[in-house]
Amino acid sequence: MQRTDYKEAGEKLIDHVSEVSTLFVNIEELHGRILAEDIIATEDVPAYARSPYDGYAFRAADTRGASKDRPLELDIIEDIRVNQIPFNIISQGTAIRLVTGSPIPGGADAVCKYEDTEFTDKTVKIFREFDEGENIISAGEDIERGRILAKKGTVIDTGLIGTMASLGIDQAEVYRRVIAGIISTGDEVTDLNEPLKPGMIRNSNRYTIAAALESIGIDTVYLGHAGDDRDEIKKLILLGEAGCDVVVSTGGVSVGEYDLVPDAMEAAGYELLVRGVDIKPGMACAYGVKEGMLMLALSGNPASSLTNLQCVCYPALKKLMGIGEYGHELIKMKLKNDCYKKSSGVRFLRGTVKIEKGQAVFSAPGEQGNVVISSSIGCNAYGIISLKEGRIDAGSMIDGFLVKTVV
Ligand code: AMP
Ligand code: MG
Repeated sequence: MQRTDYKEAGEKLIDHVSEVSTLFVNIEELHGRILAEDIIATEDVPAYARSPYDGYAFRAADTRGASKDRPLELDIIEDIRVNQIPFNIISQGTAIRLVTGSPIPGGADAVCKYEDTEFTDKTVKIFREFDEGENIISAGEDIERGRILAKKGTVIDTGLIGTMASLGIDQAEVYRRVIAGIISTGDEVTDLNEPLKPGMIRNSNRYTIAAALESIGIDTVYLGHAGDDRDEIKKLILLGEAGCDVVVSTGGVSVGEYDLVPDAMEAAGYELLVRGVDIKPGMACAYGVKEGMLMLALSGNPASSLTNLQCVCYPALKKLMGIGEYGHELIKMKLKNDCYKKSSGVRFLRGTVKIEKGQAVFSAPGEQGNVVISSSIGCNAYGIISLKEGRIDAGSMIDGFLVKTVV
């Protein structure tokens, strides 16, 4: 199979996945979940006009001509607390004393703060003119009934939780969480709790891949480690069918004699969609599907597997999770440092975007090799260098995208 253009490979994956099933979840557990329905305001918030201050409510028309020297004096006809409904209606020359959050009495259309008045038990003095509606929070000022507050596919954030709560919406239909099974392959791969013998390598990918999946809200289970043996690998792949939505493996996916994962995928009944993509790092890979299951077989090189997962596979995984805007949102970024590119293919640079003087500035660590995972520490973005070969000068504008955690 030919190496596939990475955008085409990403599209193939997207075309082969559909959103997982849904369930209703209580508001306590909704933060970070993905909406499977639109949230529409069922009422006005606030439900009634209310006061933003402790003060006095009256008719703005009464204040015409009022000034420091010629204050308006009004009769106080009632004194209400925050949760009381005014008994009286304001008429010319009268005021009702209220507190922050009190309903505005009928007939009143302005509020003056206590500290701007002089008052006795019976009367209050107002020292300036007021406009109609001044210092009144109108009904529906926060949320108007019928407004679409969030669409299906939205990740529920703090603001939406607060908005739903203020509407009395205490549950929502969301997508169930996606579960990914992780497989490590390679005769040389050693668990962290085992001594590292000569010629062996620590299994860092198991943890890197799990962290990268968890950061976008996917739950992970470890299916196990297989040596470079087709049947061992196949067994683990089949194990993933009991409860996983996607299987992600590392190692054994290049074109060497011991790269047996693609064979094992086919033996396990997967149809191979992609066999290698045209990017660096992360070229070696195989993507397969089997009856709605997805398998992403990634390289063993730590930076290659992470780059491939985040740059090519994330959009399809986000679609599977139910996220509406699953594609990378491309941004223009200014290169902070010179970069070098040896070949003409597409290179994804891992790095850090910071806003400097209102502009997205991208710093890429000098070490961008396949095996260097430590240069990923603190990275929050990828730069995409497509055509150019050789040096790309500091100050150049390049395309890139942020690797956003989902919550
Ligand atoms: P492979 O993709 O099997 O050709 O492996 C490429 C490189 O990645 C080799 O140097 C492997 O030792 C290394 N490697 C494979 N699996 C892992 C792993 N789980 N963690 C860290 N490195 C690995
Ligand atoms: Mg290997």
